Amino acid sequence: MTMTDCLFCKIVAGEIPATKVAETDGFLAFRDINPQAPVHVLAIPKKHVASLNYADDALLIGDLVLFARDVARYEGLADDGYRVVINTNAGAGQTVFHIHAHVLGGRAMRWPPG
Ligand code: 5GP
Ligand code: ZN
Repeated sequence: MTMTDCLFCKIVAGEIPATKVAETDGFLAFRDINPQAPVHVLAIPKKHVASLNYADDALLIGDLVLFARDVARYEGLADDGYRVVINTNAGAGQTVFHIHAHVLGGRAMRWPPG
């Protein structure tokens, strides 16, 4: 997989449409096409990083988590609660190999996760 084949790089480039909810210079948030909760937003860095296994920039990952937190706030989830999930590799259900934080909320979350 190269960056030009990457679905989320294409969303960043505007080549594939997405319902954007927040954007900064370095990050983009858009609604998941197959939502698993009343609020299900994907927060991604615009820079291509295939997965958490390939992450080497602590500032980028820290900013991604804070960006996901800000999305949860904008979506009104901060008080009731929300979940931020980074699936990594197939065993955890990763299907798109451009790192993304799922921001899930608007319903009660079970634990342990499935
Ligand atoms: P993963 O399974 O890799 O953790 O998460 C990938 C997510 O991307 C899935 O929840 C899936 O529904 C979402 N997704 C896949 N293709 C598209 C798309 O074209 N547009 C949007 N908005 N979400 C997508
Ligand atoms: Zn990418």
